[in-house]
Amino acid sequence: MKKHISELMMACLLLVCFFVLSRQAAEVSNSMNQGEIRKNVIVVDPGHGGDDPGMLGIGGLEEKKINLEVSLRLKNVLENRGFTVVMTREEDKGLYDASSKSKKSQDMQRRIAAINDARPVLTVSVHQNSYQDAGVKGPQVFYFEHSAQGEKLAKALQDSLNRELHVERPRVAKGNTSYYLLKRSEGTLVIAECGFLTNPDEAALLQTEEYQENVARALAEGVAAYLEQEGLTLSEEETEK
Ligand SMILES: [Zn+2]
Repeated sequence: MKKHISELMMACLLLVCFFVLSRQAAEVSNSMNQGEIRKNVIVVDPGHGGDDPGMLGIGGLEEKKINLEVSLRLKNVLENRGFTVVMTREEDKGLYDASSKSKKSQDMQRRIAAINDARPVLTVSVHQNSYQDAGVKGPQVFYFEHSAQGEKLAKALQDSLNRELHVERPRVAKGNTSYYLLKRSEGTLVIAECGFLTNPDEAALLQTEEYQENVARALAEGVAAYLEQEGLTLSEEETEK
């Protein structure tokens, strides 16, 4: 009987040890994977690319092209403000291998990996919208419904876009639980749909350098407003890096 009790106690002790050690191992690997966020780093993710044109607008206008043009401008504006910008792509290319059988899912997984590796303070994924009703227009920003930070960032970007682009019928930022990027990103990420490629006015504007620049500036303005509100602004030293 005595022997049984001591065996039972030993087994319990071993279980406790195992539990404690595995928790510690999990914490170590978490902090190694995630590390600290880098306040000076912003990821700009131009949606689609390569074989994936994204939404198609008036006259076959491809979303991927507008996304990249706006994103490169956004990169420029943010760098001028002292940020280090990590782009998920800088050419008309997806993030998949040519031989991949599931290019779309490989592309999305690699975007998520690139974002998580960069450990940015935030990520802006740049997209354009489309709708069967050509009258529908205006920018709209999406966030992951369960992310308080995402919601705050989305609201800041939405306000800035509405204001800077003089939007007639302003929309509000919208929560979402199904978009892959929103679900899978570890940090704060929003999807900025800059306009509707199916609306003739907006499709035309989005192809001009001037309007693209305005969109990029509005997004950067929103980013700055969010960081200020959250007390995440860069010190002068950080800006110099
Ligand atoms: Zn898109």
